[in-house]
Amino acid sequence: MTPSSTTKLIQNIINNTPVPPSSQKYIPVLSPSTSKPIASVAISSQQDVQQAVASSKAAFQKWSSLTTKSRTAIMLKFHSLVQQHSQELASLIVQENGKNITEALADVAKGNETVEYACSLPQLSQGKRLHVSASSSLYGSPIYCHDHRKPLGVVASIVPFNFPFMVPMWTLPIALVMGNTVILKPSEKVPLTLYKTMELLKEAGVPDGVVNVVQGTKECVEAIIDHEDVKAVTFVGSSPVAKLVKERCNALNKRCTALGGAKNHLVALPDCDVNDTARDVVVSSMGCAGQRCMAASVLLLVGDNPNLLDKIVEKAQAIELGTTAGKLGPVIDEASYNKILKYVNEAEAMGAQVLVDGRSWMKEKECDGGFYMGPTILLHSSKEDAAMKEEIFGPVLSIYQTSSWTEAIEIENSNPFGNAACVYTCNGGSAEWFLERFNASMLGVNIGIPVPREPFSFGGLYGTKSKYGDMDITGDGAMEFFSNRIKVTTKWIVPKIDGGEDENPVKK
Ligand code: NAD
Repeated sequence: MTPSSTTKLIQNIINNTPVPPSSQKYIPVLSPSTSKPIASVAISSQQDVQQAVASSKAAFQKWSSLTTKSRTAIMLKFHSLVQQHSQELASLIVQENGKNITEALADVAKGNETVEYACSLPQLSQGKRLHVSASSSLYGSPIYCHDHRKPLGVVASIVPFNFPFMVPMWTLPIALVMGNTVILKPSEKVPLTLYKTMELLKEAGVPDGVVNVVQGTKECVEAIIDHEDVKAVTFVGSSPVAKLVKERCNALNKRCTALGGAKNHLVALPDCDVNDTARDVVVSSMGCAGQRCMAASVLLLVGDNPNLLDKIVEKAQAIELGTTAGKLGPVIDEASYNKILKYVNEAEAMGAQVLVDGRSWMKEKECDGGFYMGPTILLHSSKEDAAMKEEIFGPVLSIYQTSSWTEAIEIENSNPFGNAACVYTCNGGSAEWFLERFNASMLGVNIGIPVPREPFSFGGLYGTKSKYGDMDITGDGAMEFFSNRIKVTTKWIVPKIDGGEDENPVKK
């Protein structure tokens, strides 16, 4: 379509300058709160990707020859600019993603934590040196091995809609400090926050071409992966697309970490603290309208716990609609709303009780055209319901009562995702029993959103639908991912000093 003249145009950004797509194609960016257009975003083709990669390739040599500390100095400035502009960034997140303002500020703060981590890479990324062989009659001189890291070149980061600032920051600052240049592909649903972020990167001193942004969808992603000068790809998004991205990279022998979806299970034991557990479960499942890969989606109650059930229902019912602090915003778009609705309707038809019914919001509340699904709690009679097994990505909590610890762990273990899991209990031994057995990689005790803070790295369990690729996306894994470790073995002939004895200190 031709862009509307009344909304902001979101272009590609190449060499720190907005550039229209070669096709002149745009699609509207809709506000989830009103369903009205707030911007038009460029749709890029292979030609645009080629232009962006050529620019990043040209910038690589100079950028990678700076010292790690010089690149870090730019990231430190960027960190401070993000803090100064956090309200503005958060307002953009509210506008395009629909989170409430507190959640949006947390999106910015959490993203900036990874920038902070990247600023410690001069200390963390140094190599090792080892004396591996003494001088001998065979070798003459001692032999040393050392290693150091070299950047890969142009790398790409493809990101989803649900954290417009935090997820791009998982990769960008680490890739940059390690000396790579980066192609970013934002979600076409939320391109505004990253557009502003690019201004801040430029102001911080990131040179032209070091970060280029191509807007678009499938065609653009495929062109990025296929480009021979793109040396590695990170992807965060839904499991089916993560799998496609990983397979496409594998076929090209290209390094790739692709994080997929989730279905996180919480287990509440009879001795859990009722108030704390209820508050935490509701925040975890309903916060950000359930559109977090770390959101709780299934609560397994071990034994009968009517007090906990009542408390959870009471807290969910108290949530109000809106995007101001503490309220529940809309889901991202109509397709997402309809998908959530389908899961709830189907579960009800299969015999689940709808303890809290968020479907009423669209009928009863002033939704202003927005895609508001209220808090929804399902009490299932069958663990085979689709809502118990598949990712819904909305403010829906499935509850199922189990008869034993073993049944709870069997249900958690049999789900094909492996992102997060948590147990609620006041007993350390019980907690350990579950921590040993959960089939997920980010685990919690009495914490429903057990997001590891830097320097602990983020990522689901390899071999599940939550992660395709073997490295985490932040932390040490990212440092490894964005560099090649070069191993050097040296043997120097030590000269004879003053024409006398061999002065080789190791030999003596
Ligand atoms: P998505 O998979 O639809 O899109 C992600 C990115 O891929 C976007 O940039 C999109 O433009 C692009 N894309 C979409 N379809 C494509 C295709 N067929 N081929 C190539 N590229 C394509 O995901 P989304 O709806 O934006 O985000 C929500 C999903 O992301 C959820 O499943 C959520 O669990 C997941 N997620 C996971 C994590 C994690 O750490 N595991 C973090 C955040 C979000």
